[in-house]
Amino acid sequence: MSKQSKNPETIALHGGDYRSDPATTAVAVPIYRTTSYQFNNTGHAANLFALKEFGNIYTRIMNPTNDVLEKRVAALENGLACVTVGSGQAASTFAIVNVCQAGDNFVSSTDLYGGTVNLFTHTLKKLGIEVRYADPSDPKNFEKAIDEKTRCFYAETLPNPALRVFPMKEVSDIGRKHNIPLIMDNTAAPIICKPLDHGAAVVVHSLTKFIGGHGTVIGGCLVDGGNFDWTADPKRQPLFNEPDMSYGGAKWGEVVPQLTGANVSFAVRARVCLLRDLGAPLSPDNAWGIIQGLETAPLRMQQHCSNATKVVDFLQKHKNVERVIYPTLHKGAIGDRTKKYFSGGNGALVGIEVKGGVEAGKKFIEALKMFYHVANIGDARSLAIHPATTTHSQLTPEELLAAGVTPGYVRLSIGIEHPDDIIADLKQALDASGKPSLKAVS
Ligand code: PLP
Repeated sequence: MSKQSKNPETIALHGGDYRSDPATTAVAVPIYRTTSYQFNNTGHAANLFALKEFGNIYTRIMNPTNDVLEKRVAALENGLACVTVGSGQAASTFAIVNVCQAGDNFVSSTDLYGGTVNLFTHTLKKLGIEVRYADPSDPKNFEKAIDEKTRCFYAETLPNPALRVFPMKEVSDIGRKHNIPLIMDNTAAPIICKPLDHGAAVVVHSLTKFIGGHGTVIGGCLVDGGNFDWTADPKRQPLFNEPDMSYGGAKWGEVVPQLTGANVSFAVRARVCLLRDLGAPLSPDNAWGIIQGLETAPLRMQQHCSNATKVVDFLQKHKNVERVIYPTLHKGAIGDRTKKYFSGGNGALVGIEVKGGVEAGKKFIEALKMFYHVANIGDARSLAIHPATTTHSQLTPEELLAAGVTPGYVRLSIGIEHPDDIIADLKQALDASGKPSLKAVS
């Protein structure tokens, strides 16, 4: 019964079909540290390679430890299938390369993680794939950027630093009119937001963040919503409708539903073509580490979100804070989207402009005692960083402004410590940021 539960707390522990290890009855998911799997006979081996039968072949493509994680994340996102990969960056790369080839383009939101901007603007360009950026403040900008070579839309649910919730339904409706799938990076809002319920076709995660949750493991995944018809417009999605000569001429959009009875062509193609050819699997050891994090992720998200709400209240009243950035503080349609798309919390990310610009911002970060100064989000511990000089430093001044990174902006990822201790650390650092430095006094 627990397997059918829609409650994240139960899915995180019991989701998928793992109950205990078939060989030993071990309850905790074992780490299957193997590269290969013994075939029953030559016919069995041939069937697996021909996809006539599904089963384990080689750990670059699948592994039973990863399989448990994949089924649980798919269930949490209300998706049908999931493929784990070695990092969130690999997940974003696979998501695009699974639908685009040289000469194609895709339309991406301007509100993106800096690493994704680099991937899209520079590395994919060198592979002949063009990104077209659209400002999500008007969803119609996505439609304006489409041509006959546009294969997907891409965006983040809760992009930092601006923390403007993305108009998922509005943009996915536009995409579906043109048979263009919306791919959502839901790294910053697992459990509290389910993009597949709002029209997205695919969700990607950096599992490194809230799902792993302890700052110990890098990983990523792609979740196939099973809600997009890849064959509806063959010209729009050639990679799913033209014969794939690397797989005996398979047309992925047709063959996968026939073989599996499910509309999971995106996930199957990512696994059997991209993991096969590009590599980048998640190691089973790391999948195991992420499974430990996932078991408590729903509880941690509650604490992250409730702490963040208290921090926002405190920051808004502090005299050395110029501005607080949080999803619910945006006015109008952007703020309304938080209510429309989120439930159970509004996220752990909080932005602040410290009064006094860059220098005060730096002083604030250096005065923090409990917060860690790191380039990560979603750790159980509270974290802080100055994006303009770190995570977003490779962007041009125009790209920085488009992403909402002003010089004095500090990003906080609120952890699960006691809220009084988080606020006490922020208070003493903010008080220090307003004091003249020793150099200025002398
Ligand atoms: N997507 C988002 C929103 C991120 O914040 C990050 C990393 O910070 C990534 C993707 C990349 O993830 P990873 O560091 O696991 O490669």
